[in-house]
Amino acid sequence: MYPDAHVELDHQDAYQLLVATILAAQAVDKTINTLTPALFAKFPDATSLAQADQLELEGMIKQSGFFRQKAANLIATARAIVERFGGEVPETMAELVTLPGVARKTANVVLGCALGKNEGFIVDTHVMRVAQRLGLTHETEPAKIEPDLMRLIPRDQWTDYANRLIWHGRRVCHARLPDCEHCALAPICPSAGLGASIVAEAEQRRVLAKAAKKAKAAGKAAKKAKAGKAGKAAKKAKAGKAAAGKARGAAKRNART
Ligand code: SF4
Repeated sequence: MYPDAHVELDHQDAYQLLVATILAAQAVDKTINTLTPALFAKFPDATSLAQADQLELEGMIKQSGFFRQKAANLIATARAIVERFGGEVPETMAELVTLPGVARKTANVVLGCALGKNEGFIVDTHVMRVAQRLGLTHETEPAKIEPDLMRLIPRDQWTDYANRLIWHGRRVCHARLPDCEHCALAPICPSAGLGASIVAEAEQRRVLAKAAKKAKAAGKAAKKAKAGKAGKAAKKAKAGKAAAGKARGAAKRNART
């Protein structure tokens, strides 16, 4: 499956992929690919990015979300690359993770997809979800899922396999509604049918919510009716009291005459 799977962030080298990956946090790759051409034209390397004006950079990456933090991280990362690595993106995990805004996932993307090095296994949200559903791991934290996958998959396939899982997560095994019905992995997937059960659960929730709404509306109507009746009865009693008072007054007047 997915023999052509590759990182979907447009890039020409490790510097560009590092920048694009930092920008892609909490954002869609397609959006980042619309921003990076102008960004790379203006800042073609770490040296130029290190001297960027924060406000100008923020304006260029606004659509990526969290743009202030990302702009600060990009400038800080570029400065660290210039000051500590001679302007070239470092090529080891140990060095990459010392850069501001760079954790293992970003480092694995740069190492695996731009430098052809399998130092670790990329664990993003798609890898995490699909690996769990396929039963490749029972862990829930990226830091524990990564060693599980590294043990299971031959080292020379780590990056390739991660990209395949990411593609499958984006195209079939969606977070909210996996398309198990059309999934080629369904025969071997312990979670096959999850899509149908999620739909059934959603339908059940919808029916229950509708029934609860109806019951609430009926309760309100009953309260109103009760309040209306009580109001009428109170009115009647008040009118009765007034009539009695009038009658007593008339009787007193008659007695005096
Ligand atoms: S069968 Fe369903 S849960 Fe399993 S990998 Fe395919 S889409 Fe995902």
